[in-house]
Amino acid sequence: MPAWEMNVRKVIPYTPGEQPDRAGIIKLNTNENPYPPAPGVARVLQGMDAGKLRKYPDPAAGELVSALSERYQMPKEQIFVGVGSDDVLAMSFLTFFNGDKPILFPDITYSFYDVWAGLFQIPYECQPLDGEFEIVTKDYLKPCGGIVIPNPNAPTGAEKDLQELERIIAANSDVIVIIDEAYIDFGGESAVRLVSQYDNLLVVQTFSKSRSLAGMRIGYAFGNEKLIKYLNDAKYSFNSYTMNTVTIAMGVEAVRDEAYFQETVGKVVATREWTKGELHRLGFVFQDSKSNFIFASHPKCQAKKLFEALKERGIYVRYFAKPRIDNYLRISIGTDEEMKALVAFLDKYIGENLWLN
Ligand SMILES: *Cc1c(COP(=O)(O)O)cnc(C)c1O
Repeated sequence: MPAWEMNVRKVIPYTPGEQPDRAGIIKLNTNENPYPPAPGVARVLQGMDAGKLRKYPDPAAGELVSALSERYQMPKEQIFVGVGSDDVLAMSFLTFFNGDKPILFPDITYSFYDVWAGLFQIPYECQPLDGEFEIVTKDYLKPCGGIVIPNPNAPTGAEKDLQELERIIAANSDVIVIIDEAYIDFGGESAVRLVSQYDNLLVVQTFSKSRSLAGMRIGYAFGNEKLIKYLNDAKYSFNSYTMNTVTIAMGVEAVRDEAYFQETVGKVVATREWTKGELHRLGFVFQDSKSNFIFASHPKCQAKKLFEALKERGIYVRYFAKPRIDNYLRISIGTDEEMKALVAFLDKYIGENLWLN
């Protein structure tokens, strides 16, 4: 190893889901929304005056913060925005997790948390989910450097009861508790209403899933005024202009179209419920998902083989070759037609292959 390499920050990066460049595939592997974003978003694109891009964007993304403030009835001083919730979460790890004690998060969870902890050299301790893949409240009632919990959890899709989460937040008033609500709009109960009661709570959400804007990169957080100020201080010490002019304008359109939001979220939820019924009929087992995906296992069919067979047929789902979850598939909810195609394939495959395992 050359001497200079000793001083390199070495990290094991996050592995995002595949974005195959194949026509005609059914893509159920990265929890994207199958419906386009609100019509106002496309109008921003069409009506964009390129001359506007001559100037730097508003570093505070004021218009987007105002739109979120109206929609969520939250003072502007309590809202932070960033380039996807990944940016908001990374900035939060950097800002809030500077103690000596380890931060806590589940062992089976969003696989970016340990990556950020590694990058920022934050000590962490994973708390195992129980046999039913549930988060165990008492594991989070102990001295620590901070907590991050996704609700619903990923990749299980399971919701944790808000009262239980409140116990965790209340018991950890000395550290910051981050609730990552990437999937909350698909039927879970949000912790946003607890923000006014707990100054150690940060609730993070995203436009990527329920508002169909994964490609645009918009995330946001709600918290006590002081938390938001500290987040902005860190952001302005790193890169002031993270959100561009076009993104800000599109974000505003997406938040303001409440009717479209409700309609598309409703469709995804209805399709998810139908898919649950079909997967049960086929013998799959899974927790009751409150997200836009189902994390399912088949007692008589190996997940890895099924994953490969699906891929061959042009249906992409997510498979994690990790301890405890290597016999599960995470299936994002697509359109009704896409889910029918999936179920038709599974019907046939399971019928033909049960005897192989
Ligand atoms: C998708 C996801 C995110 C990140 O979404 P962005 O696209 O960066 O907004 C964060 N947390 C969880 C649990 C997710 O599944």
